[in-house]
Amino acid sequence: MITFYPGPSKVYPEIEHYLSDAYKSGILSVNHRSEPFMKMLKETIETMKLKLEIPADYEVYFCSSATECWEIIAQSLVETKSLHVFNGAFGEKWMEYTQKIKPASSGLFFDLNSLPKIADIIGYQDSDAICLTHNETSNGTALPDSFFEELRKLTEKIITVDATSSMAGVVFPWKEADVWYASVQKCFGLPAGLSVMIVSPKAVQQAEKIGERDHYNSLLFVRDNFLKYQTPYTPNALGIYLAGRVMQQVEMLSEISVQMKDRAKDWYQFLSKSGYKVLVENEEVRSDTVIAVSGEKQQIAAIKKAATENGIMLGNGYGSWKETSFRIANFPAITLDEINQLKVFLKTYSETAG
Ligand SMILES: *Cc1c(COP(=O)(O)O)cnc(C)c1O
Repeated sequence: MITFYPGPSKVYPEIEHYLSDAYKSGILSVNHRSEPFMKMLKETIETMKLKLEIPADYEVYFCSSATECWEIIAQSLVETKSLHVFNGAFGEKWMEYTQKIKPASSGLFFDLNSLPKIADIIGYQDSDAICLTHNETSNGTALPDSFFEELRKLTEKIITVDATSSMAGVVFPWKEADVWYASVQKCFGLPAGLSVMIVSPKAVQQAEKIGERDHYNSLLFVRDNFLKYQTPYTPNALGIYLAGRVMQQVEMLSEISVQMKDRAKDWYQFLSKSGYKVLVENEEVRSDTVIAVSGEKQQIAAIKKAATENGIMLGNGYGSWKETSFRIANFPAITLDEINQLKVFLKTYSETAG
């Protein structure tokens, strides 16, 4: 079965070999405050900063999931309220989780086929942080780099970004936001159970100003530990090890990004040419890493079933598009050969059943 599920998604095939290396290396049995662990963590962070072209003054922490990052931001970077700008299920969930911790936080919904209005965002003068979803996994939209650049010019507030389904796939304008985070079971091609949080000096300053240290995962406490290449709690050492190995193996992100953008362009062209309807009509806001195709409920169910029978797993729809769309992950671990198999299937399907 080949999978195009946008998370958990296909892991790099090299993982099999790295798992066995991890076992043999002994790293899985060492204390997380010991020299070998600290060395492994340091190397993983350095390789990640190099390959993902992360600015030198941004810090990298590992946590357990994107969901945990939602809570860390709410606890430690938001004093009273944050503003959540969203158009789909993940951005909305982030707001809902935050409201349990900081009830005054509010949302600004925008339409699937448009960009959020910057004037509306900066109108919320008393929010402590602006929360954006770089790539809305539920509907296949993304915010273009130019949006981050414009917003940054017009606000002094910290900008935090959920980039779970795009980090390690496409380049980001890192400096135009203060926190970027992702779980690794999507675009990184790694098994679940680890997230990456990338934090600017300005975000660290805001955390220090707020001074929140009440939780095991308070940002300042996490940071104190990571500055020593340690972690607040016994971490997912296997996940960190695998992330380090995959980061060694992959090309520089700017190169991967060109390939992903080319593949995405091909996908969108192919889909419209072959009689499929892309959920997002406005090309400017289409995602490069998660492609959503819309259709009638029965049509979608039938195509997913036929795909499974052909050894191909498509991603289900999500949230309000659960039954009226399917999703195709365009992540770096997926090979061109696999993409071609899916294209052959989709083409044949539209010519016969469609
Ligand atoms: C998958 C996903 C999450 C949740 O990730 P977990 O690892 O389950 O916490 C959050 N945000 C986005 C955009 C996602 O795609």
